[in-house]
Formats: sequence, C-alpha cells, structure tokens
Amino acid sequence: MNTNVHDDYQLPVLQGTAKEFYTYCKAHDLRFQRCAQCKTFRHPPRPLCNKCYSFETEWAPVKGTGKVYCWTVAMAPIGKAWVSYMPYAAVVVELDEGPRVATWVTGIPPDQLKVGMPVKVWYDELTPEVTLAKFKPL
Ligand SMILES: [Zn+2]
Repeated sequence: MNTNVHDDYQLPVLQGTAKEFYTYCKAHDLRFQRCAQCKTFRHPPRPLCNKCYSFETEWAPVKGTGKVYCWTVAMAPIGKAWVSYMPYAAVVVELDEGPRVATWVTGIPPDQLKVGMPVKVWYDELTPEVTLAKFKPL
C-alpha cells in the first residue's frame, strides 16, 4: 500500500468502463477494452469500434510490458498532494500489444526518460478501492 496518499489526490471515478478497468487493476491484471469483432484495442474505453463500428467488446489481458512513447514534465503542483512528486513526468506508454496509456513511470528521474525505453507494469494500491497501473524501467 502506498503511504503517500494525500487528501486532495484526485482518484478515478469508479463507474462504467472505468470501474471495469480499475477492477482488473485491483486484481493486478492489466486489461484493455478490445473490439470483439476485429480485435482492435479501444483505450480509453468507448462503446463503438473506430475501425469496424462494432459495439461488441471484450477485456483483453496484456503482458504489461511496453515502451515509453512520449511524456511531458510537470514542474508545478496542481494541488498539495502533488508537491512531493515534483517534478514528475506524465508519460504515455505504448504496450507491446499496441494500446497507449497515460501513466507514471516511477524509479527514474524525468530527465533520464528516453523514447523507446522498455518498461514494465507495477500496481500502486493507492486506496482499498483504487489500484493504479504504473510502470518502471525494465
Ligand atoms: Zn472493430
């Protein structure tokens, strides 16, 4: 359990497809919504496939490995909860299976990130209800 939780840390709202995604995260099972017809990932989750227009979905497991796709570095906190994280990088990781996810890459200073850097998922059990999928360098 992460003990760095503060009162104004904005947690995900657990409803709809977000609830499904975070329920898998809580079980340390990284899954992304995927079209059940053409197998194209949909992230963030949404009802309609943008490739074949199917409404059919499934939650497909991924290995949890990928690479740094891009990032931006936040230099100023947006609230008290973020002060201890400054500066931090908001990173987009591209999973080996294809979907890209906005996340954290921990264990490395932002100025040492590199495009294409291999990373692996880990699970930050932020609260009893919310577990975030974060990444660390391989
Ligand atoms: Zn499709």
